[in-house]
Amino acid sequence: QALQVAIDGPASAGKSTVAKLVAKQFGYIYVDTGAMYRAVTYWSMQHNVELTDEAAVTAAMQSLKITFKPGDPDQLVFANQEDITTAIRQPDVTNNVSTIAALPRVREILTEHQRTMADAGGIVMDGRDIGTTVLPHAEVKIFLVASAAERAKRRYAENIQKGIETPLAQLQAEIELRDHKDSTRKVSPLTQAPDAILVDTTPLSIDEVVATIAEIIKK
Ligand code: C5P
Repeated sequence: QALQVAIDGPASAGKSTVAKLVAKQFGYIYVDTGAMYRAVTYWSMQHNVELTDEAAVTAAMQSLKITFKPGDPDQLVFANQEDITTAIRQPDVTNNVSTIAALPRVREILTEHQRTMADAGGIVMDGRDIGTTVLPHAEVKIFLVASAAERAKRRYAENIQKGIETPLAQLQAEIELRDHKDSTRKVSPLTQAPDAILVDTTPLSIDEVVATIAEIIKK
């Protein structure tokens, strides 16, 4: 049985960590759609494209092929031959990605690419609009949330691991701003699909979240 599993939710709710582990447990492919919006943002910035100029961004996208390769701990992301895995997590990309994500034509192009990848099933896809727009017929839909304070705390700990120290309050403000932009854009805003199951990870460990989702998939 090769199901489609959609995992959506706000920034830093643990979607990618959990989605990767769930995919591994079921032998499914994991697709990080946020990485695709980040890749377009990175590419546009590299090419000095005005990020609100939809025609210019989509023109730049014509020379961009986004691919994924297995990697540990992080899946590798490529823009053509260039490994952009680390570059797309830099703060300048993170703080500009919601602008790119609000462009309807960019969303159409990436949505089409995502549907192709999910076609055969056996996939765990995470993002903001997977259950609502990309895969409205996914057999399993999860909406993963956690309090903003908890999400900022987790991101803070992750940053410390990487040797970056950003004040906790700043991280929380950035997370809340990105959620606000993602939830209020006109096209496919971040919202829980009516048939998605809400999982609040605030009090849960990663293993507990993975187990919760695995149970839902097996039902
Ligand atoms: O998941 P991640 O935080 O890497 O996503 C980065 C950004 O990409 C989000 O803040 C959102 O603006 C955009 N995004 C989106 N739709 C998706 C996945 C990500 O708009 N399916």
